[in-house]
Amino acid sequence: MITPGYEAPTLAPSAPAAATDSAVIVEQVSKMYQSNAGPVTALHEVSLTIGRGEFIALIGPSGCGKSTLMRLIGDLDQVTKGSITVKGKTPRQARIDREYGIVFQSPVLYDWRTVRKNVELPLEVMGHPANERRDRARAMLQTVGLRDFENAFPWQLSGGMQQRVAIARALVFEPSILMMDEPFGALDEMTRERLQAELLKVWGGSESDTTVVFVTHSISEAVFLSDRVVVMSPRPGRIETVIPIDLPRPRNKKTREMPGFFHLITQVRDSLRES
Ligand code: ADP
Repeated sequence: MITPGYEAPTLAPSAPAAATDSAVIVEQVSKMYQSNAGPVTALHEVSLTIGRGEFIALIGPSGCGKSTLMRLIGDLDQVTKGSITVKGKTPRQARIDREYGIVFQSPVLYDWRTVRKNVELPLEVMGHPANERRDRARAMLQTVGLRDFENAFPWQLSGGMQQRVAIARALVFEPSILMMDEPFGALDEMTRERLQAELLKVWGGSESDTTVVFVTHSISEAVFLSDRVVVMSPRPGRIETVIPIDLPRPRNKKTREMPGFFHLITQVRDSLRES
């Protein structure tokens, strides 16, 4: 029974209590682009709160606004309406404070720099001394299994190895938010599954403080990696549903054989069909 005059507390996604634990708060965000065919609504009133250390996958058909949402969070583009807060700051300030590491589908490595020099690049830009840069880059290359390739050039490596270099480079300065836009999209299925497992190892699972926003087209990839799968739908881009992934961590080969894994894949697939 509800006592007259008593107002039940509401658990709004952006409630101030949650804000301290939140890495990213997206509130009522819309994004319009101008195109030759007229204005395009890439996102319509999207709200999402991402916890610190949470692994979030954004999934949905092409054109539903996944990359746009990631770009807005990363200050690579500006909202038309609404607001985004990253660790209590504007995305611009968060970018200036180097809160972000970003990995794209194509690794964008510099072919004339060795693997280690590529990984050192962000530390170089930040003005870290040479010996510290070298040590940190080596440690990161060790983590992604490429310590023996530090003096190789990117063009000497396979696509999967190049993407591991890009991941090492994105993580070497310990960003609090790692944003990945279909990072494994161009790789074959086996390499892809191996890199997914490696990414989780590098990220460190439930003890990690690094928040990951991961854009993907692959349902199994989204389920395997994340704490929550955000299903988006197009025209205009919005969040259809958010599915919690309660599979135990650490996740590994066995995870892919669990009945819960298949169940969640079906759940995400059904939500995509409805979108
Ligand atoms: P997704 O990543 O889900 O494939 P996007 O975020 O790339 O979707 O795009 C969402 C919508 O916004 C699409 O209709 C796309 O054509 C449009 N769009 C994205 N970027 C631009 C831009 N720079 N100019 C015009 N339209 C854009």
